[in-house]
Amino acid sequence: MLPELAAAIRNDDLFLLYQPQVTADGRKLVAAEALVRWRDPSRGIVEPDHFVQQAEQHGLIDDLGSWVLEHACREAARWSDISVAVNVSPLQFRRPDFVSFVTGIVSRSGLDFHKLEIEITESAYFDDPDGAAAALRELRAKGIRIALDDFGTGYSSLSYLRRLPLDKVKIDKSFIAEVGDRRGAEIVKAVLALAHALGLQVTAEGVETASQQRFLAECGCDFLQGYLFAKPMEAAELSSIPAGLLSRCP
Ligand code: C2E
Ligand code: MG
Ligand code: MG
Repeated sequence: MLPELAAAIRNDDLFLLYQPQVTADGRKLVAAEALVRWRDPSRGIVEPDHFVQQAEQHGLIDDLGSWVLEHACREAARWSDISVAVNVSPLQFRRPDFVSFVTGIVSRSGLDFHKLEIEITESAYFDDPDGAAAALRELRAKGIRIALDDFGTGYSSLSYLRRLPLDKVKIDKSFIAEVGDRRGAEIVKAVLALAHALGLQVTAEGVETASQQRFLAECGCDFLQGYLFAKPMEAAELSSIPAGLLSRCP
């Protein structure tokens, strides 16, 4: 699988889908998250859960990460209003030139730094959280926003909250699935209170029902993402979302 993945990155056999992120009332599209897929001749479309960790474990994450960042920024540079969120693995912070690597790609794409949000995925651990924090501070100084993804599922969520310079927390979908239950609801309320007390915005992931949306909006959650609003879609489909929700430069 690894030689095939390396070849797929080289040959552009990857593509990105974009999933809308909306305001809590569901009315305004504010951003789209880039989610990578692999088009494999024998296996068809392969989901990231089946290859991102392999890429991390076998030295391909830098190549995969730069492919994704480059393509997402280039696409998003054509959108007029909305931001793009790009998943970045903690292992990508190992490269000593990580900050200039990111800023170089963004600059070449023509995307405004303020339109990029980096989502730190918890699929791996930071070898050096202090070094990562310093890199994130430099990126934030340029205007790039930082979100802590899948909040609550890793072993280090709270210490990341304490140590990393962040703008946003994304509550993992496993918690959102349980807001109908009293304990589940209290946990989500507590995470929202904690994040807001730290001055962070909150996105809820995996919102699938109108009652989850109602609950999250009542609790003051800032942004929502999930199948209730839209599944991940091709960039062309994103741009066909009715006027007022998404406007695109000619
Ligand atoms: P994630 O960043 O937490 O992305 C959200 C995942 O939840 C996506 O799965 C999305 O399709 C799925 N999802 C969205 N709304 C719903 C919903 O309402 N219900 C349910 N059940 N699922 C929903 P996907 O695209 O399979 O991505 C899985 C994970 O793979 C991502 O989780 C992220 O951690 C990782 N990933 C994806 N693209 C990249 C990438 O370019 N680089 C890195 N490092 N990781 C990536
Ligand atoms: Mg994400
Ligand atoms: Mg997530």
